[in-house]
Amino acid sequence: MTAPERLPCKTVECTRTILPSTAVETGGYCQPCIQEQRRKAHQEYVLANRKDVDPFAGLVDPVDIILAFHEPRPHNELIRYLPLQRPLASVYRDLSSSGVERLIDHVIATADSEHESRGEHLLIELAAYTTANLDRALLALIRQGEYYPGMAFCRAGDAVRDSLLTATETLNRHALHALAWVDHPSARERFAHWQKHPPDYLASLHVPTSSYAQIGGWQFESDGCARRLYLQTCRALIPATRGAASDSHACRIGITTGQPCPQCGRPLTDLMILDRNDQRLTSIPWPKRQLHVRTCLACTCYGSVFFSHSDGGHPAWLGEAIPQPPSQDGDWSPLPAGSLVLDVAERGVLHGASDILPDPLSQIGGLPAWVQDTGYLSCPTCAKAMTFIGQISVADVHQHGDGMYYALVCSACQVTGTAYQQT
Ligand SMILES: [Zn+2]
Ligand SMILES: [Zn+2]
Repeated sequence: MTAPERLPCKTVECTRTILPSTAVETGGYCQPCIQEQRRKAHQEYVLANRKDVDPFAGLVDPVDIILAFHEPRPHNELIRYLPLQRPLASVYRDLSSSGVERLIDHVIATADSEHESRGEHLLIELAAYTTANLDRALLALIRQGEYYPGMAFCRAGDAVRDSLLTATETLNRHALHALAWVDHPSARERFAHWQKHPPDYLASLHVPTSSYAQIGGWQFESDGCARRLYLQTCRALIPATRGAASDSHACRIGITTGQPCPQCGRPLTDLMILDRNDQRLTSIPWPKRQLHVRTCLACTCYGSVFFSHSDGGHPAWLGEAIPQPPSQDGDWSPLPAGSLVLDVAERGVLHGASDILPDPLSQIGGLPAWVQDTGYLSCPTCAKAMTFIGQISVADVHQHGDGMYYALVCSACQVTGTAYQQT
């Protein structure tokens, strides 16, 4: 018995063949073509029938807008939810004190729900976008043995701080994280004390006390002296289309240089060039007027890249080779030069300090949003922790971009460093 003769698929450009029995079922098309036809038909159906829904329509109360922002929305391909048409931080700015209390009520009401992450988002946003006192919510968390999210403890009052100090007498990592965020001398004294006399449980974990202190942006030297690892000013890097033309000189991002990367051969890039003569940038610790944070945008995704600026000429690549430099082939989309400029308005130092915050995170100054673990670089020359001066979120320059570039400096050694983290 011979096999039945196979028939060509009816799609003109398709070269596949099918059995006559299949052709009866599919009208003469092969299975991949049939599936493609169904996919296209479904896509057309969705496009023709999809409705836009504005979850914020008619809402004027900032609390209602914020709660609507965090309302879980089950996926439905026939509904396209329109985004909020303004930065969420601006809604927080409109909150009255009673509005803040209503949000705190919401945090407390949902604090014991394991499936509820809205409380965590609300707390971090209240910490980052307002100066509100969050103690009532924090005490409710503490009563349940919760010290998360740590950043919400940044302005902790006396009672909250006392609870944290007690909780950190025994091993409680969340309480340690929270205490690191508290910007108050009593919290820093505790870390300074631990620097000299680490508690037994930290010693047994082989975790240096300094790595906990860095969570809140502090470094404690061996003599117990505290050093802030971030600038106390903070300004957003905003799309160049929104900024004034005159602002494009104070901070330029993604400027390609003529120098090739010694590791991968791609052109080196100034992640940012900052002009300290601009009154918005005078707080940057650097001995020269211009600060070029040079890097290889490709190599720094695989390891920290350092440059020395101490002799008058070109910045010089410093430090160890990156373990696996990316191959020279392949496309690498750099940061579009000049796509972001420095905002005129100042914002709070916590405004871009967590990657769960919804507004754009690119900024000069303030605290960094580490996408993974806290990652202050150590200066390759003096081994001290470097100061964070800015971050560029790739999502702010590419529609589907991912990850964050960080810029750090050691002013004493005239060394710049860059790092990259992504989810
Ligand atoms: Zn490279
Ligand atoms: Zn140094």
